[in-house]
Amino acid sequence: MRNSSSKYSFNPNRQLFYGIALVIIVPLLVVLNSLVLVRQFNEILTREQHRQAILIGQITESLISEKIDDPNSLQSLIQETVLNNSELTDLIISKPTEDGLVIWASTNRSRIGVVEENTAAVVAIKNKRSVAQRVAEGTKQYWEIQYPVTNATQEVVALITMHLSTATIDSESGNLIFQSFMMLALIVLVIILLLASNTRLFQYTILYKRLQEIDKAKDDFISIASHELRTPITAMRNYFSLLLDGTFGKLSKKTKESVIMMNENALRLSNLVEDLLNVSRLQQGRISITPEEFDVVPLVRDVIASLQSTAQEKCLELCFDGEKGPFIVIADPVRLRQVLVNIIGNGLKYTNKGSVKTSVESDNRRVIIKIKDTGIGISAEDQHRLFEKFYRVINRKTQNIIGTGLGLWLSREMLMLMSGKVFIESIENVGTQVSISLPLGKKDLDKGSR
Ligand code: ADP
Repeated sequence: MRNSSSKYSFNPNRQLFYGIALVIIVPLLVVLNSLVLVRQFNEILTREQHRQAILIGQITESLISEKIDDPNSLQSLIQETVLNNSELTDLIISKPTEDGLVIWASTNRSRIGVVEENTAAVVAIKNKRSVAQRVAEGTKQYWEIQYPVTNATQEVVALITMHLSTATIDSESGNLIFQSFMMLALIVLVIILLLASNTRLFQYTILYKRLQEIDKAKDDFISIASHELRTPITAMRNYFSLLLDGTFGKLSKKTKESVIMMNENALRLSNLVEDLLNVSRLQQGRISITPEEFDVVPLVRDVIASLQSTAQEKCLELCFDGEKGPFIVIADPVRLRQVLVNIIGNGLKYTNKGSVKTSVESDNRRVIIKIKDTGIGISAEDQHRLFEKFYRVINRKTQNIIGTGLGLWLSREMLMLMSGKVFIESIENVGTQVSISLPLGKKDLDKGSR
C-alpha cells in the first residue's frame, strides 16, 4: 500500500521549479518577440520618414531653384511648406559664400543672415548628395536632412536643411511597447492562474488514486471476510438443523424456541455474507451469467410461492396478477431469481398492510415484470439514491426494518449483465412499483408483438 502510493508522490519542489520556469521563460519569450517587433516597426517608420524627407527636399529644390535670388518669396515658400507639413519643424535655405554658409531663408526669421556650418552640411555640399542624421536635443528628437541644390553646371548654389520631428514614431512605438507590456502582464496572470488550478488538479488526481486504492483495499477486505465467514455460518446452520431435527435428543420448548431464533439469525447472517460476496464478485467481474430463453411466468410464480409464508406472517396479499403467458425472456434464471427475491422481498418488507402484486407484460422487444406494493413508498428525494451501494432510506417508518442497502444495487448490476433494466416509481404513503425490463426471447419475437 505504502509502495504503490509513493509511486504517485507529489513533489512540491519540482512543481515550484516548473512553475517558476514557466513564469520566467514564457514572459521572456513574449518580451523578446515584442522587442523584435518594435525594432522592425521603428525601422520601417524611419525608412518611411527618410524617404518622405528626401521627397520634401526634391519638391522644395524644384520650387526654390527659380526663387533662389528672391529672398522674400523664398521665405514665404518655406513658411507655407512648414505649415503644410506637421512633422517638418524647421526649414532653412543657406547659400555658400566666401564667408561660409549664410542662412538665406529660415522658419526662424531671426537667424537670416547668420553664418552656420556643420560637418553634415560640408559633407552634403562636397559630395553633392543629401545627408540625413538623427539628432537628440534634450527630450526633443528629430531627423536633420541636408539637401544640396545644384545649378545646370552641377555647382552647389544652395543647401536645404530640414528638421523632421520623430514625435509620431516615438509615440507610436511607445504605444506598441505599452501594449506589449500589458499583454505580458495578462500572460503572466493567466500562467499563474493555470499553474494554481493545475496544482489543484494534480492534487485531486493523487487524492482520487489514493481513494481508489482505499476502495480496493476495502473491497478486498469484504471479499476475504465474507469468504471466511461463510464456512462457520454454514457449520452453525447445520448444527441448528441437527438440534431441531432431534439428532442430539429431544429439546425442551424453551430451548427449541432459542435454537429457532439462533437459526433465523444465522440465516440472516448467511444472506448478508452472500450479498457481500456477490458485491465483490460483481466488482471483480467474477460473476458468471448464463443466459437462456425461458418463460418467465413459472419463475415469478415460484418466487412468489417461496415468499408466501413471509407475506402471511404480515397478513399481506402476495399474488401473481398478470397474464398467463408464456413470456419468453433471454436471461440467467438463477440470477433473475435472486433479483426477483430481492425486489418482491422488498415489497413485503416495506409494506405494512395491503398487497404486493406481480404482473408480466411485453411489447415487441422486451418483457416487463412489474412488482407493485401498497407500502410506505419512497420520497422523490430518496428515489435518486436508491441504487447506490449500501444506501438505505432512514426515517421513522424504516428505522426498525433490517437491511443492508445492497439489494437494489445488486439487482441493477445483475440485470445490467443480462441486458436488463430496472425502474422505480413510488409515492410516499401510497406505494411503490418496480419495473424490470428484459430482452424478449427469439421464440417470442417470432410470434410477433402481443
Ligand atoms: P435494503 O437492504 O435496505 O432493503 P435495498 O437496496 O434493497 O436495501 O433498498 C434500498 C432502500 O430502498 C431501502 O432501504 C428502502 O428504504 C428503499 N426501498 C426499496 N424497496 C422499497 C419498497 N418496495 N418500498 C419502499 N422502500 C423501498
